[in-house]
Amino acid sequence: MHVENDIKLGFKDVMIRPKRSTLKSRSQVSLERTYHFRNADRSWTGVPIIAANMDTVGTFEAAQVLGQAGLLTAIHKHYSTDEWQRFLSAASDALCNNVMVSTGTSDNDFNRLAEILALDERLVFICVDVANGYSEHFVHFVQRVRKAHPKHIIVAGNVVTGEMTEELLLAGADVIKVGIGPGSVCTTRVKTGVGYPQVSAVIECSDAAHGLNGHVISDGGCTCPGDVSKAFGAGADFVMLGGMMAGHDESGGELVEQDGKKYKLFYGMSSDTAMQKYQGGVAEYRASEGKTVKVPYRGALQTTLQDILGGVRSTCTYVGAAKLKELSKRTTFIRVQEQENRTYS
Ligand code: 5GP
Repeated sequence: MHVENDIKLGFKDVMIRPKRSTLKSRSQVSLERTYHFRNADRSWTGVPIIAANMDTVGTFEAAQVLGQAGLLTAIHKHYSTDEWQRFLSAASDALCNNVMVSTGTSDNDFNRLAEILALDERLVFICVDVANGYSEHFVHFVQRVRKAHPKHIIVAGNVVTGEMTEELLLAGADVIKVGIGPGSVCTTRVKTGVGYPQVSAVIECSDAAHGLNGHVISDGGCTCPGDVSKAFGAGADFVMLGGMMAGHDESGGELVEQDGKKYKLFYGMSSDTAMQKYQGGVAEYRASEGKTVKVPYRGALQTTLQDILGGVRSTCTYVGAAKLKELSKRTTFIRVQEQENRTYS
């Protein structure tokens, strides 16, 4: 047994120190980035924030709103090929460029992925998603997807350490999804004791990835726009959001009323709710590792989107970053024991 003694940090443990700046207004800040991917050998330009591939978040309806603003949506894997076909028949080039096709790692998943990609050559992103990115089977699956789809941008995860980030990039992935346990409806840390504080995971994985010309997504744990900025500051090339994008008109999940207030159902993809819905129950050998919650109904996604982008732009002005690209270079984290003042919350 081995104990690592240096402290690992989460969003709640840090703040970003302000720096002298010549920027006058946050309207001067550009959140667009252009990335060139190591294995796919192609580029993408946009605002690198992604709606998570959960069936309550990564919907075609959310993609319409986010895609128009240049953001990405990882479309959840429970849409049928027919539903994809209908969506694609009406989709603009920009929208196609801003969606990811999610897949698991079974043979069925592999075939389904090929079917969807064959529908439209404008689809460029594949998201190979498993709860535990440390299995050999997963690495082999990524190699297989790379071979079958040499020109697509492959996102693979989730992991939280540099060595596995490198292994997946070498196996053919372009972008590594980082995060085990930080999610708002995730119970992995409670059920298994496994996890890694997200800011440290992103710092360590992005360092490993950037050394190989790879990229990383910080996935999970953002509760407010400030956390999104912290994730970028820590070196994330993209930030993926679940809970922050849930509860809107465009979100999946049932709308329920309680005591005169409206809520939307939001649940983890390995919660009892999701397993009942898609697999007819929780498999005996595995515990459910996700919660089901009601989030207050929040209306149009567009409003939340503006709030998030406004926050990140404002962070950039506090540290003197005229472009999102400069944010991590201009970030100094300070370790803290307080966050916001909660007197009136
Ligand atoms: P959030 O932004 O809500 O904090 O986190 C979203 C992320 O939580 C997702 O992108 C995914 O990585 C993770 N997640 C979604 N559902 C589950 C689940 O049922 N169990 C676990 N362990 N993680 C989940």
